[in-house]
Amino acid sequence: MKIAVLRAPRAFDIIDEPVPDIEPDEVLVHVAACGVCTSELDVWDGSAGADGFPRYPGHEVSGIVEKVGEEVTSPKEGDPVSVWTTGKGFAEYVAVKAEYCLPVGSVPLDLALGEPLACAVNAVELADVALGDDVVIIGAGFMGNMVQKLVALRGPRHLIVADTRSDVLTRAEQFGATRVVNVRSESLPHVVRELTDGRGADVSFEVTGVQAPLSMLGDVTRMSGKLVIVGYHQGGMREIPLAHWNYQAFRIVNAHFRDEATIMRGMRTGMRLLTSGRLRLDGLVTHRFPLQDINQAFQTAHEKPEGFVKSTVRMNGAGAL
Ligand SMILES: [Zn+2]
Repeated sequence: MKIAVLRAPRAFDIIDEPVPDIEPDEVLVHVAACGVCTSELDVWDGSAGADGFPRYPGHEVSGIVEKVGEEVTSPKEGDPVSVWTTGKGFAEYVAVKAEYCLPVGSVPLDLALGEPLACAVNAVELADVALGDDVVIIGAGFMGNMVQKLVALRGPRHLIVADTRSDVLTRAEQFGATRVVNVRSESLPHVVRELTDGRGADVSFEVTGVQAPLSMLGDVTRMSGKLVIVGYHQGGMREIPLAHWNYQAFRIVNAHFRDEATIMRGMRTGMRLLTSGRLRLDGLVTHRFPLQDINQAFQTAHEKPEGFVKSTVRMNGAGAL
């Protein structure tokens, strides 16, 4: 089978490897698509360091079950599934535990992005947005969009979305933001103060992974409100105004999840919402590349051209994409 290996920064090769064997509790999935995750970009471009190559990224997999182990009762051969895996996803086949495969129903396979959806679900659940809360989301990229859509399901009063790019703010507005703020031309703290009678938001999400919005988070949140950090598991040191955050008695929510049980719980919740139509990810995959163009898929995710939300790599042969 074909699999993409990152031999050095910015240098994927497509190589041939045997199709993996499966254990009795595993299934073999014929991969249809694998999303390019922002968390993979610092490894790809070398900013995470020059060590550890070759690497096999790819953890946002969907496809069709090709074969099941002898102990597996579900899923069945031929089922379309969203898969949780920790790597080696830019390949024609992956072998995974059956319990890490969730049904996708009639959702197109390259929108069945269970893994990033799990992160967004778990962030919103941990933040515990309540009915009528005023919520600020800084960052309207792919993860910000999903967080926004999930927060909307919780029934906030104001849902204010901020970014520096006008194309993504237009999309956030279409997705139901009650107010969008381009921080290049407007003061987010000012807008939030006005909308909340000077009080500040109950919950503020940081979904950009860069310094300036992180610094701003405390300026848009009410005393004892929640600051939710979603996008920071890569890159170098960041500063936070801890004296101010401590004085304001903020609750700091570190919304990153590592243990399998939590990830799978978030993925099951997300896929329930997605397959039932309560949540839609339509339009969020904007750039699709065949496996042989995987370098370009990463380059595009790195450059984020106008209109970009997310790129996926599609394999040949599996699924009706
Ligand atoms: Zn990811």
